[in-house]
Amino acid sequence: MKRLSLSVLIFLFPALLFAQKPSVEYKLSMPQPRTHFFEVEIRFQGLPASPSSLNVLMPVWRTGRYVIFDFPGGVQEFSAVTGDDSPLPWAKTDKLTWHIEKKRSTTVVVRYKVYANEFGDRTRGLNDEHAFVDGCAVFMYIERYRHLPLTLTVVPYKDWHVTTGLETVAGDQFKFSAPDFDYLIDCPLEIGDQQDYTFQVEGKEHVLSIYGKGSYNPDKLIKDITTIVKMNKEFWGDLPYKRYVFLIELTPHGGGGTEHINSTIIGLSPSTFKNSNSYRGFLGVVSHEYFHTWNVKRLRPKGILPYDFTRENYVKELWVAEGTTSYYGQLFLTRAGYVPASASLDAIAHMVQGDRQRPGDKIQSLDESSFDAWIKFWKGLQQGYNSESDYYGKGANVSLLLDLEIRQRSNNKYSLDDVMRTLYQRFPLAGGRGYTDDDVQKVSEEFAGSSFKTFFDNYVHGTAPLAWETALRYAGLDLQAKDAERKTWLGVWTSDQNGRARVNGVIAGSPAYEAGLDYGDEILAIDGQRIRSSDLQNRIADFKAGDKVKISLFRGDELREFDVMLRPQDVPPYKIVKVEKPTDLQKAIYESWLGTKWE
Ligand SMILES: [Zn+2]
Repeated sequence: MKRLSLSVLIFLFPALLFAQKPSVEYKLSMPQPRTHFFEVEIRFQGLPASPSSLNVLMPVWRTGRYVIFDFPGGVQEFSAVTGDDSPLPWAKTDKLTWHIEKKRSTTVVVRYKVYANEFGDRTRGLNDEHAFVDGCAVFMYIERYRHLPLTLTVVPYKDWHVTTGLETVAGDQFKFSAPDFDYLIDCPLEIGDQQDYTFQVEGKEHVLSIYGKGSYNPDKLIKDITTIVKMNKEFWGDLPYKRYVFLIELTPHGGGGTEHINSTIIGLSPSTFKNSNSYRGFLGVVSHEYFHTWNVKRLRPKGILPYDFTRENYVKELWVAEGTTSYYGQLFLTRAGYVPASASLDAIAHMVQGDRQRPGDKIQSLDESSFDAWIKFWKGLQQGYNSESDYYGKGANVSLLLDLEIRQRSNNKYSLDDVMRTLYQRFPLAGGRGYTDDDVQKVSEEFAGSSFKTFFDNYVHGTAPLAWETALRYAGLDLQAKDAERKTWLGVWTSDQNGRARVNGVIAGSPAYEAGLDYGDEILAIDGQRIRSSDLQNRIADFKAGDKVKISLFRGDELREFDVMLRPQDVPPYKIVKVEKPTDLQKAIYESWLGTKWE
C-alpha cells in the first residue's frame, strides 16, 4: 500500500471531517384501503454527488419462508425525483432492480404503489378493515445503504393505530426508527383497530395484539404466554430484546405463524379458543415461533447470514432452524404441563408411523430437504410426499433422537438443550458467522464425549431409517406396533370438490398407487356406491384386506374405472409404553427430558 504524504492528508482532512452519512426516510400511506394499494415514499438524502447512478432493489422473498415470492411483481407507478421534485430518468434492469440516473443530485426520492392482498402468506395485506406489512414485501432499499439507520413514518387510514416491534421516535406514535434495513423488514406492522394488551415478564415489556373477533380471554392468554416466555428465558439464559410483540390475526384464512427479530405474526381461525385441543394448538404455535427468537433469528445458519434479499439463500441446516424448533415447541408444552406426558408419547408414536410411512424419507436427506426448500418443500409439489423428506417433521424427529442419544452417552449429564445453548453463545448474530451442520455435530460430540459421525451421516446427510426403538429405550420406553389396528387402506388423501373426492396425493407403493389412481382424479363411487371425501377413509376401512373394489372416477372429462386390491396399512400404528423395570438412568433420562415424574 502506498503511503499518503502529509500534504495530501491535510487536504483530505476537512472533507473526511464533514463527510455526512446519507439519511434514509420511509413513508407508508394507505389513503384508499379498499383498493389494496400501499403508497411508499423513500427519501435518500446526503448522497455523494458521485457515482451518478444507483440501483434501488425490492426483495424477492421474505424471512422465514424459503421460497421466491417475487414481491416486485406487485409494484406499479414507480417514479424517482430529486429533492426539488425534478424527475430523474430510470429504467428497470431486471425484475427487482430500478436503475436511477441521479446525476450529481444528493437527494433521491422514490415513490411507488404496492398491491397488497396476501394476508394468508403473512407478507402484505391491506383492505378496509386493517393492514399488515412484512417489510420485505413492501419496502425497497439500496444495497450500499442497507446498513444505515433509518426512520419510517406511517400515515394510517382514519383512526387506525400501528402495532410493531419497531421503536417509536420520541413523542410520535406514527414515526419509528430502525438501526438498518434488515431490522426494518424484520419488524412487521399491524395497522388497524387491533386490541393491544401490554404486560411485563422478567422486567421487559411484552405486547399481545389481537386483530379480529374471537371468544378469547386476554388474561388467560397473557398467563400462558408468560409461562412460555419464562421457560425460554430459563432455557437460553436471556431475553435478547427490549420489547416483544405477539401479533395475532383472527381471520378465516388464518393458520400458522412467522418469526421475527422481536415479534411474531400468528394467523388463527376465530374459533381457535373454543376448545382445549385447538387452544393447545395455538400455544404450540406460540411456543414454536417464540423459540425462533433465538433459534434462527439470532442463532442463524451460515447460508442466511446475512440475508441476500435478491435470490435464493441456500442453507442445509433448516432441519435445525425449523425441525429443532418444532421439537422444542412441543416439548416445552409437555414440560410446562399443558400436554400430559402420556399424550406426548402418543404424539411421538404417531410421528413414528408417519416417518416410516413417508416414501420421501427414504429418498431425500434432511440436508437436501433444507437446501432445496426453495424449489421443492415450499412449492407443494404433487410428488412431494413420495419424493421429499420434511425438514420440519423429520427435522423434529432427528432432533429427538439426537437429544436422547446425547443424554444416554453422557449419563444424562447433558442434552440437546446444552448443544443449543452452546451454539447460541458461539455464534452470536453480531459476530456475523453462521453455524453449519458440522458445528452442530462438533458441539454434540463435545457433550456426548464420542463421535456423532455415523449419526449425522445416516440421519442428516443420508436417508437411513431412524432407530426409534433404540432411542426411546434410553428413556425407558418401549415402542410397540399395534398390528391388530392396521386399517384396510387405499393410500390416497382427498379433499371435497363440489361433492366429489379430489385426489391430492397417492402414496407410492399403496394399493391406489399400484392400481393406477392419480393426482387430480375425482373419485365418484366405490363398487357403484357414491363416495364423498369426508367418508372415503371410513368406507375403505369397512372392507377386509384382500377385498377387490371397483373405483369409478373422472380423470379430466373421461369416466374411468379401476380395480383395486385392498390390503392393511403397510406401517402399523404404534404405542409407546414404559418398561416394567427401568434402570436409574432410564428413569433419570425420562424425567429430565419430559420434565415429569416417572411414576
Ligand atoms: Zn418455524
